[in-house]
Amino acid sequence: MLKERVLQKLEILSDAAKYDVSCSSGQSNRKNKDKGLGNSSGSGICHSFTEDGRCVALLKILLTNHCIFDCAYCVSRKSNDIKRAAFTVDEVVDLTIGFYRRNYIEGLFLSSGIFDNPDYTMERLVRIAKKLRLEQNFNGYIHLKAIPGASDELLKEAGIYADRLSLNLEMPTEQGLKLLAPDKSHKDVIKPMQYLKTEIAGHKEERKANYKAPLFAPAGQSTQMVIGATKESDLEILGMADYFYQQMNMRRVYYSGYVPISHDNRLPSIGTPVPIIRENRLYQADWLIRYYGFNVNEIVGFNQPNLDLDIDPKLGWALRNMNQFPVDINRADIELIKRIPGIGFLSAQKIVAARKFKKLVPQDLQKMGIAYSRAKYFLAFSSPFLLHKDLTALQIKDHILDTQKSKYQNDFSNQLSLF
Ligand code: SF4
Repeated sequence: MLKERVLQKLEILSDAAKYDVSCSSGQSNRKNKDKGLGNSSGSGICHSFTEDGRCVALLKILLTNHCIFDCAYCVSRKSNDIKRAAFTVDEVVDLTIGFYRRNYIEGLFLSSGIFDNPDYTMERLVRIAKKLRLEQNFNGYIHLKAIPGASDELLKEAGIYADRLSLNLEMPTEQGLKLLAPDKSHKDVIKPMQYLKTEIAGHKEERKANYKAPLFAPAGQSTQMVIGATKESDLEILGMADYFYQQMNMRRVYYSGYVPISHDNRLPSIGTPVPIIRENRLYQADWLIRYYGFNVNEIVGFNQPNLDLDIDPKLGWALRNMNQFPVDINRADIELIKRIPGIGFLSAQKIVAARKFKKLVPQDLQKMGIAYSRAKYFLAFSSPFLLHKDLTALQIKDHILDTQKSKYQNDFSNQLSLF
């Protein structure tokens, strides 16, 4: 049974942690040894299931919501009149182990406000991870927030015990950050990110030479940007994300739509949250940059600095580049096939593998599970293409949106008919 005092802290500090979205798990292999507890593998976290088959997640909490800073966009800012709490090191260790043993969680995501100073806070975060690993033999997933301004020694220790470390960029531009958090600067996070990048790469090399060399943040580092609190365009946001992928070997950049929590007139007014679709479009664009070979400037540009909200960015690119279509999937390069709306990364690989044995026809694509109703406008061989070959980009867009709409309506009616 959890003590009343710990329960109260848990309520406050798990609620405060919900604004940090950078906690999905990354890949990490941490084998169980010496009869330890848990085992991270494959997708990076322990896959534990409750008896009824539910997949359980990470314990996501703050160590404390006390903070010496006053970032206008943050619920934990020092000027905010809220209930404050702080866990002790042992409380977090006990909660993690207790929940883990009960199969409630697969690992720990631990962030924190900054009390006293960065080293003081980081030292506690590290102590928790160290205790879990060395005293409790915990092999589950640990994601620690790295505190900007903490010493390299502490960051190094954190990397030894955690699977993933993250430093949040917060606002996509320095100007936006200065507006809402005048005490902060992007260089405060970029410097430790560079340090972590070097350590991660160095430890990987060491492991190649000696498999007994210690792991260092095997699931890499990630960061988060708050979207919509300031006026940055998607071009600026994606440009920044691209910089982090290229220059910092970032595993993930997360986009967190700003939830209005303050009457501060530097911020959007309460009641005007960032539409969830903007977040979704940014994640889709991010995916195109990382896995589909798109440059940021192909997705957004100075003429159109924001993503379309009504269509996904891949379809948007195709409609702006109709000169690239139709594509003959029996001959085209895989890189171009991946760019066809309705054909994903894996489907493109299946197409290239299958066409070695036969000339592919539309039915083959349908059997492969491709979104043919969308792809057909961009394919050279399909007879529907012949019917649609005179359509303009705008007309194709309307057709696709209509099909999408009737699909949603059908799905909705089918769901209603179940009640
Ligand atoms: S430093 Fe972090 S926790 Fe503190 S107010 Fe700023 S964003 Fe919030």
